[in-house]
Amino acid sequence: MTHRREVDIAVIGAGVLGLATAEALVRRGADVLVFDGRPPGAGLSGGLTRTFRHRHDNELHVAMAVEGRRGFARWEQRLGRELIGPEGAVYHGMDHSHVTGMAAQRVEHSFVPGAVGGEVFPALARVGTPLLVDPGAGAIRAKRTIDALAHWVGDRIVQADVHSVTVPSDGDGAEFQTTEAIYRARHVVICAGTAVTRLGASVGFDIPVRSALHARPHFRVRPEFAGTPLPCWVDISGEFGVNVYGSPIGATGTYVVGMIGPAVDVPFGPDGGLPPGTDMEEHVRRVSAYVAKALPGLDPEPVGARVCVMTKLPKGSDALRAWHRPGVTTIAGHNLFKMAPALGELLADAAEKDQLPEALERAGADALEAA
Ligand SMILES: Cc1cc2nc3c(=O)[nH]c(=O)nc-3n(C[C@H](O)[C@H](O)[C@H](O)COP(=O)(O)OP(=O)(O)OC[C@H]3O[C@@H](n4cnc5c(N)ncnc54)[C@H](O)[C@@H]3O)c2cc1C
Repeated sequence: MTHRREVDIAVIGAGVLGLATAEALVRRGADVLVFDGRPPGAGLSGGLTRTFRHRHDNELHVAMAVEGRRGFARWEQRLGRELIGPEGAVYHGMDHSHVTGMAAQRVEHSFVPGAVGGEVFPALARVGTPLLVDPGAGAIRAKRTIDALAHWVGDRIVQADVHSVTVPSDGDGAEFQTTEAIYRARHVVICAGTAVTRLGASVGFDIPVRSALHARPHFRVRPEFAGTPLPCWVDISGEFGVNVYGSPIGATGTYVVGMIGPAVDVPFGPDGGLPPGTDMEEHVRRVSAYVAKALPGLDPEPVGARVCVMTKLPKGSDALRAWHRPGVTTIAGHNLFKMAPALGELLADAAEKDQLPEALERAGADALEAA
């Protein structure tokens, strides 16, 4: 008799990536367990909404988004409910050089003159330059997605924190120590969000994720626009002071807006704390000032604000990368919710074959280069 438990594949983390990986593995008939000390979706995948958009600078990421959209459609069919709304996305400050990946992947898109921008984004002020429209984009129902995945993965979720992952001296699989038991698995997939750097380090991965705090206020849609579908929004034009993204929050009549750019988040210091004098309220005020100028269809007085953690690789906010060694695979990056169905299948492949799929390797090739 041994005190150690065995499982073929272990997934660490019940966020959207860990659950998507586990869902793919359960569907394929694998022997898989998912470990998380917190309820599913309590980490970076929390909250009600995320933007699904096709546009990325890297064409491989556009292709991954296309695959992600197909995967969401499969999940929607299985669930019998919508997971990505029909709102579309509108981008300001982009020209044809920004859509080469979309064009190469044959993703439907168009440009409309700024003067008629109100037709594609009714809450928007008049803008000076053309707007890019991505009609296949929309607001991901994030909580509904997490709830569905957790339901499908079911009793394969073990409520336990993983302290560390180690590669045994016989080199066969991986061992990990949890608050519940010691386990040995043929393969471990680490999808631990903000904890990937620490857990990955224990098996020799050097994962340079930079974690920073990010303020995400939300605003009431003015009554005259209530019931009008508002698209997701990306503004890198600088026309209204700061660059932002935005997304409707389902049918709640509220709309979330956050700033984008290299200096808009507050990085944690080496001691894990925030720099003295950090004022997240100031970030909320800057977003409100943007809303007052650019989005007259929203009341610029925020009705709430979430403060979230961003986990970016050196290449920036759309970078992703997977690491692999025999017995262990992990993934890091940001803005990965929209790709979760595609990444889940690829991570499931990695676990089953103990090999990094080429699509994952190529998608992460430039992730460690400075932006
Ligand atoms: C403010 C904000 C806005 C975003 N906007 C978008 C967007 O518009 N579009 C988009 O596609 N993406 C967006 N993202 C990114 C997206 O939400 C994340 O990339 C995605 O949710 C990451 O999922 P994950 O499963 O990797 O991580 P998580 O959801 O963090 O899951 C990791 C899990 O691991 C668990 N865990 C950690 N350590 C351990 C341990 N030691 N033992 C056991 N379990 C552990 C945690 O409890 C957690 O549940 C946004 C993120 C934020 C924060």
